[in-house]
Amino acid sequence: MKLLLVEDSERLRATLARGLHAAGFTADVAADGVEAAGYLATYGYDFVVLDLGLPRLDGFGVLRALPAGGERPRVLVLSARDQVADRVDALNAGADDYLMKPFAFEELVARLHALARRPAETHVDVLEHAGVRLDPQARRASANGSVLQLTPREFGLLELLLRHRGRVFARADILERIAGSESEASDRSVEVVVFGLRRKLADAGCDGLIENRRGAGYLIP
Ligand code: CA
Repeated sequence: MKLLLVEDSERLRATLARGLHAAGFTADVAADGVEAAGYLATYGYDFVVLDLGLPRLDGFGVLRALPAGGERPRVLVLSARDQVADRVDALNAGADDYLMKPFAFEELVARLHALARRPAETHVDVLEHAGVRLDPQARRASANGSVLQLTPREFGLLELLLRHRGRVFARADILERIAGSESEASDRSVEVVVFGLRRKLADAGCDGLIENRRGAGYLIP
């Protein structure tokens, strides 16, 4: 399997490249985002192992430079940034998985193998309902034609509820899906996200879209 490793730390790059070769991957290496984008524009890859903090063009820039559709490599993001927001941003920007530094090399390989088993998302789905339009790939949402300026969590919540319309999500489920398990977030922060999202939807003329089932959770019916 062909892989592009993008990492600016020379030492980590060399160690990972050696390990990946030993694990059976054919790996090209890039030391910054511009070099990575050049490789990606020229060659086809099955995987990209992508550091987020990179010189010249950061990991988010590399994600944006990736082709859409079935030809797109699977991307595993590596980052020392332990912020939930960065992980959510990377996943929303098209990363397929995320690994926090420091990590065990065995885990990197296991995750790459897991990604290889995951079916490719070949279609770009846009979720639409009651005047609300959400494009998960482009990470854009609008209501009645006006763009919604959403935080990553608000976007994640809207995507979740639109994708599973009619299903009630308890606060704990929402929290796990939009914030990740290592977060400091609580049930209370779900309420804050719901409140913010409802307000922005109402401002765009879509109030009442998200319903609350007392004691059960939230849904878009
Ligand atoms: Ca870095």
